[in-house]
Amino acid sequence: MTDNIVHLVLARIDGAPKGTKGISLFIVPKKRINPEGVLQPNDVDSIGIYHKMGQKATPAMHLEFGGKNDCVGYLLGEINRGLPQMFLMMNGARLGVGMGGIHIASAAYYASLQYAQERPQGRRLNEKQALVEPVCIIQHPDVRRMLFLQKAIVEGGLSLILQCYQYLDLEKVHADQPEIKQHYTQLLELLTPVAKTYGAEMGFIAVNQGLQVLGGYGYTEDFPLEQLARDVRIMSLYEGTTGIQAQALLGRQVVGNQGKSLVKWFEEVAKTVHEAEHSATLSTYWNDLMAAMRNFQEVTNQQFKNAAHGDMEVLLADANLYMEAFGTLNVAWQWLQHGIAAEKALNNAEIQGEDRVFYQSKIETLRFFFHYELPRVQGLFHRLMDTTRLTIFDADAEVLI
Ligand SMILES: Cc1cc2nc3c(=O)[nH]c(=O)nc-3n(C[C@H](O)[C@H](O)[C@H](O)COP(=O)(O)OP(=O)(O)OC[C@H]3O[C@@H](n4cnc5c(N)ncnc54)[C@H](O)[C@@H]3O)c2cc1C
Repeated sequence: MTDNIVHLVLARIDGAPKGTKGISLFIVPKKRINPEGVLQPNDVDSIGIYHKMGQKATPAMHLEFGGKNDCVGYLLGEINRGLPQMFLMMNGARLGVGMGGIHIASAAYYASLQYAQERPQGRRLNEKQALVEPVCIIQHPDVRRMLFLQKAIVEGGLSLILQCYQYLDLEKVHADQPEIKQHYTQLLELLTPVAKTYGAEMGFIAVNQGLQVLGGYGYTEDFPLEQLARDVRIMSLYEGTTGIQAQALLGRQVVGNQGKSLVKWFEEVAKTVHEAEHSATLSTYWNDLMAAMRNFQEVTNQQFKNAAHGDMEVLLADANLYMEAFGTLNVAWQWLQHGIAAEKALNNAEIQGEDRVFYQSKIETLRFFFHYELPRVQGLFHRLMDTTRLTIFDADAEVLI
């Protein structure tokens, strides 16, 4: 398809410091220009294709560099500064992966919504007459719950990712005002691992619910759900696993910068809450969010106490749970923003028909998120305040068999 392929490769120069501080970034082309100015092979080979669970249309190759000892890499940037350079690329990629999770979940939502509207099965739970016609499954509360959950994840998750892209834009717009730029950079760096993880982890949960809506057909190749379930699974693995994103959040973005970014984040959420305060429809919800935020502050203080002892294993053992709670709070914040916009639209008598239903559906999904999803953070908070350590062992302790 193309004359040449240029790989960006992390590698060590002989004698470089151990660990991540000794990694440099190289440009390694598939073909290099020889002294005569002619393109020649650069000893970069594909030595295998991975047989993956999903994403079958994008082959992943096992590359070998220098198998015949004739591969040249050209240093890109400074020696031993490879990792920070790679992060420049990875930040964009992390948002892209979070978005990928949401895209796939969105496809699953619409496929399962259509199926639920068309599939007749069973009667309403209060229907006493055995002979009445079956209803379409969308009328069953449990099916509706599964559809609402998908919609809440898809639209809330997308909104969080767009919030990050907005910070990215604002960072660029204020490139010549260092203080303002720094403000947006900090918010972006705080939320990037969260948006990636929410899209990946909750995207998978959403697709799984979509598959469930189709019953047995969900498991067959007659419908797209089984493929979507396989395709979405990678999102929590590549561009850094969820475990690594969670450590980056709690270790680097929260404790590592003394909570400065988190303070900015609290201020951003407070702005939304302030806007929502004027609304009677939203009063329960901004109050719920504020109450959860206060609990989250206590939980975060506990993390700082853990960090004060210098024991990183204690601090990071449950970073995933901290990530899960923080992601849920962020999406609750997004839903509150949707609620404000929807309420404004619904107060406008000119908005009618499908548009009106669109905004009503926003309010209903917001209510779903606050009644079904937000309360889950309390269980996570409970565990994060619990000082019993069950997963930290000496290297030679044999506990799991
Ligand atoms: C389809 C596909 C395409 C890919 N494409 C590319 C690509 O184009 N370029 C590229 O460079 N890479 C690519 N990768 C690699 C991918 O980025 C890695 O697989 C991924 O980052 C996870 O690393 P790993 O496989 O080494 O897992 P490991 O690091 O072995 O992790 C295994 C498990 O241990 C946990 N773990 C690891 N270290 C720690 C720790 N310190 N603390 C706590 N938990 C830990 C992880 O969270 C995970 O659950 C691709 C992978 C796949 C599957």
